Amino acid sequence: MFTYDPTNIFARILRGEIPNKTVLETAHSLAFHDIRPLAPVHVLVIPKGAYVSLDHFSAEASAEELVDFHRTVAKVVSMLDLGPGFRAISNTREAGGQEVPHYHLHILGGRPMGRMVE
Ligand code: 5GP
Repeated sequence: MFTYDPTNIFARILRGEIPNKTVLETAHSLAFHDIRPLAPVHVLVIPKGAYVSLDHFSAEASAEELVDFHRTVAKVVSMLDLGPGFRAISNTREAGGQEVPHYHLHILGGRPMGRMVE
């Protein structure tokens, strides 16, 4: 059901072909600053595994990968002082506005994020 394209930009970042501003790297995950930040803090957390989307990752990742990913999110929140609040978004596939077909969670914060409206 899920087909992964290994030429996508985040796969290239994971292979070290494109530089990134790393916040945290773990055994199974990488957190780095978004190149076009939409808030004072805009970090992307990605698994190192070849997962295209949130539902792909949730369905097929190992327990170790799932725990590692979510612990990475928690560490990023702590490291970047997002205690007052943040928004986590995963755009999924075309209708969900996903541009890069490697699962990523946007972590946005550093300012009041407001209500989520269209
Ligand atoms: P999506 O629309 O797929 O949810 O979000 C993709 C995100 O990746 C966008 O916010 C975009 O700014 C970011 N992005 C695209 N190319 C690069 C890149 O080469 N480096 C970094 N750090 N972020 C990127």
